[in-house]
Amino acid sequence: MKPWFDTDKIFIAGRWMPCASNATLPLQDPSTGGEIGRIARGTSEDIDAAVEAARAALSGDWGRLTAAERGRLLSRLGTLVLEHTDALAEMEATDVGKPLTQARADVIALARYCEFYGGAADKVMGETIPYLDGYTVYTLREPIGVTGHIVPWNYPMQIIGRSVGAALAMGNACVLKPAEEACLTALAFADLARMAGFPPGALNVVPGLGAEAGAALSSHPGIGHVSFTGSVGTGRLVQAAAARNVVPVTLELGGKSPQLVFADADLDAALPFLVNAGLQNAGQTCSASSRILVERRRFEEVTDRMAAAYRAKVAAPAMADRDLGPLISARQKEIVTGYLDLAGQGQRVAEGRIDEDAPGGGHYVAPVLLAGLAPDDRLAQEEIFGPVQVLLPFDDEEEAASIANGTPYGLVASVWSCDGGRQMRLAKRLRAGQVFLNNYGAGGGVELPFGGTGHSGHGREKGFEALYGFSSLKTVAARHG
Ligand code: NAD
Repeated sequence: MKPWFDTDKIFIAGRWMPCASNATLPLQDPSTGGEIGRIARGTSEDIDAAVEAARAALSGDWGRLTAAERGRLLSRLGTLVLEHTDALAEMEATDVGKPLTQARADVIALARYCEFYGGAADKVMGETIPYLDGYTVYTLREPIGVTGHIVPWNYPMQIIGRSVGAALAMGNACVLKPAEEACLTALAFADLARMAGFPPGALNVVPGLGAEAGAALSSHPGIGHVSFTGSVGTGRLVQAAAARNVVPVTLELGGKSPQLVFADADLDAALPFLVNAGLQNAGQTCSASSRILVERRRFEEVTDRMAAAYRAKVAAPAMADRDLGPLISARQKEIVTGYLDLAGQGQRVAEGRIDEDAPGGGHYVAPVLLAGLAPDDRLAQEEIFGPVQVLLPFDDEEEAASIANGTPYGLVASVWSCDGGRQMRLAKRLRAGQVFLNNYGAGGGVELPFGGTGHSGHGREKGFEALYGFSSLKTVAARHG
């Protein structure tokens, strides 16, 4: 299905236009390796124009809307997203290489973000603060101004929904820089916002290379807040660039998220979560569970059952809608296979397979389950960002917590156990932005604050927390005697 808009344009002030340089970049289908279109190669000139349009929107029609009116626009946008489910899912599947069913789930999540933040826009309130006699003190939550949003290729729709959705709800004007590897649905989102009736300049989208458009956005003096999702290395650059303008950043970076399986766990319930949380989107998920920690008494049993599940997994083209698709690019495949080369033959416990009909030009990697590694092995420490999970045994709760907390990351963790006391102890002790008890991921959870500690980043998106992050708190103190 061909996109209904020109993919090689940028979206500024409510209009589609070529980028200043007129240059374009190829967009590749990871399932085949073939080119599926061209996107604009935006540069600093385009980012300047986008920030200017956003500023004008804030002092124009967009800035004059009430919170309820902004919420209504977001809700309408959510309805339009749902009405375009088939087209958006096909676009995301083709562009990112994720199985169609997973791409459809991302469309629904984007619609949910629009609905959630649409409904929340007029429910963010300040406080009145008891103070000295003769004073009335209250707080106001105000828009920050122009917000910059830099998103990666793995979940474009979900990440746009959680960051741009919340920023718009709070009345900011947004400049979005999608990833050069996959940005069709970001462009579609802009066009749907136009159809929904967002005033010109409320949302501007400039595709381009990270080192060009991305760097220009994160260092732009007209931006009041940068929301970045991506790798740790780029996160550092973005934070340093924003620091020069003394501007806050939200960093959503990677992880090496553990699931802790105790001997008293309900394994039948746990098993699908243990495997799928590692293989969803071919492991290219920031919150992928890439470490499975198992109490030694049941280590062999869990290993056998996960191995059986792995042997049944098939990587195939996104539109074939099998267990997993290809990786995003030849470069990502090289990184993942480079990691796998570090594992000894005996450490590869089980492997899935690549479908025999998968095109040779696609970037497929069969899923691999690893065991027999020390917790400080590179494969158990570093984010691989591919369909690879590592099994690690532990003897008691103390050791489980120490291994779980023993990486520089801290994004998500889960505990599988029927012991309520242990659940509570570990929920407090595990270093992570989200802890799940007898589940993993809670199905995405638009409503649930999300973000990391350590190298997984800082700041929170999703839920109401994002609305606080995308607003500025003002205290008003009136002395009236
Ligand atoms: P990346 O950091 O290379 O790119 C992410 C975005 O940053 C892209 O839009 C890119 O164009 C842009 N960018 C690149 N260089 C830039 C620069 N110098 N200045 C400003 N922007 C720049 O990451 P990636 O390879 O696209 O994604 C993989 C990584 O992202 C993984 O480590 C993964 O864990 C992480 N990730 C985290 C989350 C999360 O929510 N925590 C979600 C998705 C991905």
